[in-house]
Amino acid sequence: MEIGLDASIPTYSGGLGVLAGDTLKAAADLGLPMVGITLLHRKGYFTQRLQANGDQVESPTEWMPSAHFDEMPDRVRVRIDGEEVAVRCWRYLLKGYHGDELPVYFLDTDLPENSPVGRSLTDYLYGGDSRYRLCQEVILGIGGVAMLRALGYANVRAFHMNEGHSALLTVALLEEQVGGRGLQSVGPADHEAVRERCVFTTHTPVPAGHDQFPLDLVSEILGSERADGLHALGCCVDHTLNMTYLALSFSRYVNGVAMRHGQVSRGMFPKYPIASITNGVHVPTWTSKPFQDLFDKFIPRWRADVQNLRYAVSIPLEDIRYAHEACKNDLVAAIYGRTGRRLDPNAMTIGYARRAATYKRADLIFHDLDRLRSIANQVGPLQLVYAGKAHPRDAEGKAMIRRVFEAAEALRDSVSLVYLENYDMEIASFLISGVDLWLNTPQKPQEASGTSGMKAAINGVPSLSVLDGWWIEGHVEGVTGWSIGETWGGEGDIVRESEALYDKLERLILPLFYGRPSGYAQVMRSSISLNGSFFNARRMVLQYRENAYRL
Ligand SMILES: *Cc1c(COP(=O)(O)O)cnc(C)c1O
Repeated sequence: MEIGLDASIPTYSGGLGVLAGDTLKAAADLGLPMVGITLLHRKGYFTQRLQANGDQVESPTEWMPSAHFDEMPDRVRVRIDGEEVAVRCWRYLLKGYHGDELPVYFLDTDLPENSPVGRSLTDYLYGGDSRYRLCQEVILGIGGVAMLRALGYANVRAFHMNEGHSALLTVALLEEQVGGRGLQSVGPADHEAVRERCVFTTHTPVPAGHDQFPLDLVSEILGSERADGLHALGCCVDHTLNMTYLALSFSRYVNGVAMRHGQVSRGMFPKYPIASITNGVHVPTWTSKPFQDLFDKFIPRWRADVQNLRYAVSIPLEDIRYAHEACKNDLVAAIYGRTGRRLDPNAMTIGYARRAATYKRADLIFHDLDRLRSIANQVGPLQLVYAGKAHPRDAEGKAMIRRVFEAAEALRDSVSLVYLENYDMEIASFLISGVDLWLNTPQKPQEASGTSGMKAAINGVPSLSVLDGWWIEGHVEGVTGWSIGETWGGEGDIVRESEALYDKLERLILPLFYGRPSGYAQVMRSSISLNGSFFNARRMVLQYRENAYRL
């Protein structure tokens, strides 16, 4: 549903889309025969402005697809709610490290022959109501397969559904399989033939993240024949079509995005074998200029094979510190440019940026403001940089942003806090490399993976995080960062976890940062060598190739 390639192309909302983009970039580097397909999102997700009290104001994101993409001449038609909606696509060619090209296609219904409603269907990412969403999923899944065929991709070995939003592609494949005879005629052998070609990655243990549509709506949008067919195929529970079940039922390989997420997903869907492939980030995209220069100097061929980052152990600690200082100065300058606020380049700076969803608990660090104040006043200065958007219809997420603003106000005499508007890939780039510590405080076990901490790690920025998602695998206490709490089981409670967070800051992290900078630089270096060399998209894509794509 979303692919994030570059900050100037606003076709993503967060981690899911950025991961898709990073995956495709790594596949291009490896020269894999792969294409990406998504929607155009002519008006983006939304542009976020924040008022003085933290109220979020949303507006459409302005951009010009023609400035970035090539329009393709092909047209396909998809029947939606009784209308034959015409679909075109735009192509973006990713260039891999060895010059291989990997096309990404953006589907677009803004064509003069469509009705005003039809034309608006590829405007907003995650906009509108569930009818709008289902129409988009028809375009993505069914229109996507039709477009691939029109573009000449006749023999696709594996269709990889990145989250259930694209699961209707199985309907298109089933209809191809039965030669247009309709879903009612699908038999076990047809089911198996489609299953042999599909791969599904589930991305969230949060139930609201799994799309479901009432069968009445499915019947209106897709037609009663398809709705009845889906019902007969057993993909509907309680008169709702669940996209996750649809994808599970028609995939030969299913995975979660970290070891723990695989376990949690098996608990949610006990009838299906669900493996894990832990996420990774595209290292050339997320390595800051100062660290690129440093790696060029000390790590031969790190661009061709990022596993070579293991040899970051050979980089002198002084050089790590200089490179980080440059990144931190860039961060201070970027924040000054955007907000007029000047942060102190010598103070411990903690970064926190992610979607403002309730389970991410952006406010955990503010649970006991007196304790936080006393740490900053007695152990060493602290400053915080925040960013993140709340979904336009997520009132609780918006309230979370306001709470961060209230905390900023209450802390103003002891801790500086800046909240940057409109979190995007550009802000992510200077934040993850410029801060000294990356904070993550999700409610266990709801963080499927998390990838921003991986971006930080390759720039030598350690994490302080709840043991959930990727951090269960990436955390070595005092070596690659620090945990909040000691275990990854259990539910996690706010009082205990916030105390654990304060304890780590007060007793370990700040004393190391201010008292033994070379010790801190050692943690930075291990973050690169131990975590950068593993939590990268090259390793992830190779795992997909070996475990999921190959038959
Ligand atoms: C990397 C990234 C994310 C995902 O971060 P998480 O750690 O998974 O929350 C979200 N938004 C942007 C803009 C990013 O670059």
